[in-house]
Amino acid sequence: MLTATFEPVLTKTMQYPESHTLEVYRKHGGYEALAMALQKQPDEIIDMVKRSGLRGRGGAGFPTGTKWGFVPKSTDKPKYMCVNADESEPGAFKDRLICQKDPHQLLEGTLIGSYAIGANRAYIYIRGEFAHEARLLERAIEEARTAGFIGRNILGSSWSCEVTMYVGAGAYICGEETGLIESLEGKRGWPRLKPPFPAVVGLFGCPTVVNNVETLACVPHIVKLGWEWFSSIGPERNSGPKLYGLSGHVNRPGVFELPMGISLRELIDEHGGGVPGGRPVKGVIPGGASCPVLRGDEIDLPMDFDSLTRAGSLFGTGTPIVMDDTTCMVRAAWITARFFAHESCGQCTPCREGCGWMQRLLWKIETGEGEERDLDTLLSITDQIEGNTICALGDAAAWPTRGFAKKFREEFLQHITERRCPLGGGSLH
Ligand code: SF4
Repeated sequence: MLTATFEPVLTKTMQYPESHTLEVYRKHGGYEALAMALQKQPDEIIDMVKRSGLRGRGGAGFPTGTKWGFVPKSTDKPKYMCVNADESEPGAFKDRLICQKDPHQLLEGTLIGSYAIGANRAYIYIRGEFAHEARLLERAIEEARTAGFIGRNILGSSWSCEVTMYVGAGAYICGEETGLIESLEGKRGWPRLKPPFPAVVGLFGCPTVVNNVETLACVPHIVKLGWEWFSSIGPERNSGPKLYGLSGHVNRPGVFELPMGISLRELIDEHGGGVPGGRPVKGVIPGGASCPVLRGDEIDLPMDFDSLTRAGSLFGTGTPIVMDDTTCMVRAAWITARFFAHESCGQCTPCREGCGWMQRLLWKIETGEGEERDLDTLLSITDQIEGNTICALGDAAAWPTRGFAKKFREEFLQHITERRCPLGGGSLH
């Protein structure tokens, strides 16, 4: 068991009552990393984060220090840090926990990141449905401002930074970084064509970094405990502690802080308490709904970016959804496709039309009306969407449909030949 000697840091203070307050956060060393960071040059912080191997926890897994390094140094434009707290991926609920239980940890990481890229303003874009978390964050911002961690000449330094929270309206697409930027600018959350990338032309046309909540929550610990500590956890190129959100058919769903690289089996059996009734695992979506499904016989795979990519899936947000043998995989595919069809912003034809078409074909197969050629059409639609859209939502919609149709082809064919769902719709409704 990889986790025997692992000491949680991201969730350490969350066990205390009132963990969201500045008082509790400071009692456990909160904002010491910010003071340490301000003693260093911004480039030293970027270098430290690069060496730590921290990769974005929002799904893409891009190296955070490298992203910060793309922000131009010699520019007369203001620079911005945007925090992506628009956690909307089905299956993901770990950023929400940070906003709720330890908002100061996020604020400290946001401030250090802002200092590193030379920003004097940070925006936290929070999902509209997170009303409770938004209130807690707002309070935390006020507490931090009163204590001198936000505002002018922070901790007596020559650096100033303001933090503003912006509440979204519950659109999944605003979690895409350029959709988020458009929304922050007060426009419809339509993703932008890239390049140019936000690091050069971002918010209000200025250099901008968009980072996920959990990513930024890691930063104070890297500054305080050192990049060597962070990179020593987990496999090479996939380092650090990770908040795994586990849901679906498990006895103990929840958020677990464990090292990168633990096996899905350990996560499900040791930490999630196994599947209710001891039923077999039929499939797992490893990192949020956009990641291709794995079969139950693949759960010995390590949970990290590179291993899951090699296995034909994705690590995504590291938030597995477990499905036992009562689950109808056609219905699971349809529910996923329905979500993406609903959330498509409609800008590009392959995504707008393809997502709806996939949903309709899946429903046709699920209800016993499907034909074998529908399965070929389904796979052909996924090929036509992938790589042909403005933003990654198109790919995110195509991958799960393709994954379900390929990994559970025999079940799809059974629906077609028997002209009914053999599981009576299964346990998903
Ligand atoms: Fe909008 Fe889909 Fe195109 Fe993304 S891929 S811009 S969500 S239509």
